[in-house]
Amino acid sequence: MIITKPRDWARITGNLESVGARRVFLMGCGQCATVAHTGGEKELEATAAQLAAEGYTVTGWTVGDVTCHLNGTKLDARKHREEIDSADAVLVLACGAGVQTTAEAIGKPVFPGLESLFLGTVVRNGVFEERCQTCGDCVLGETAGICPVTTCPKGLLNGPCGGMWDGMCEVLSDRECTHVRIRRRLTEQGRAGAGTLAPKDFSTALKPGSVNIRDRVTARQKPSSEGPPGRKGTR
Ligand code: SF4
Ligand code: SF4
Repeated sequence: MIITKPRDWARITGNLESVGARRVFLMGCGQCATVAHTGGEKELEATAAQLAAEGYTVTGWTVGDVTCHLNGTKLDARKHREEIDSADAVLVLACGAGVQTTAEAIGKPVFPGLESLFLGTVVRNGVFEERCQTCGDCVLGETAGICPVTTCPKGLLNGPCGGMWDGMCEVLSDRECTHVRIRRRLTEQGRAGAGTLAPKDFSTALKPGSVNIRDRVTARQKPSSEGPPGRKGTR
């Protein structure tokens, strides 16, 4: 899921002031931001109370099922049309994709209420760790399901750096070295003989990514020999 954190309040009010907004509609997200405790009902109520305390009028709020789903967000916006129409701006407590989707669905100034941090795992309630950088060239099949690109601070693919000490990471000294974990899990699974990874194809990580499953164009498609070299428009 996308991990978010609350945005600095002064930046939020600064955004609202930039368009002279005194009437605000709030949009949350029923998926990641709810699980991260940043954009669910409780957080929207708290934000509405804070805005009210500072003299803003909150015209209404909704927690979209999946705020980064364009058609779903358009539908949600239609259900709250009057409340949105009477607002000067919309504040979105969702990840950056959710904010952009809302901006596309609503013809009003739309501002982020959160900071988007990373794609991560919920280790336990309220504890999140970054696990994937969406590189488009996944090596998890060879690394026993542990991502060296993300969880090794140096992004090394093939074994520890010279700073690893007694199995621990030199950068994040409270964590085991990613490559120690990878080697142990591979050994436990009887895969200790796994070979060296080839250099990564970082062209697959170029942004912005786009996928249209109707065309069945995927991240694994290499540039066509007929076309010019370079990235395709889709991942
Ligand atoms: S190798 Fe790439 S796609 Fe796979 S988990 Fe790591 S960053 Fe994500
Ligand atoms: S000690 Fe291991 S995890 Fe830490 S930076 Fe070096 S190789 Fe990466």
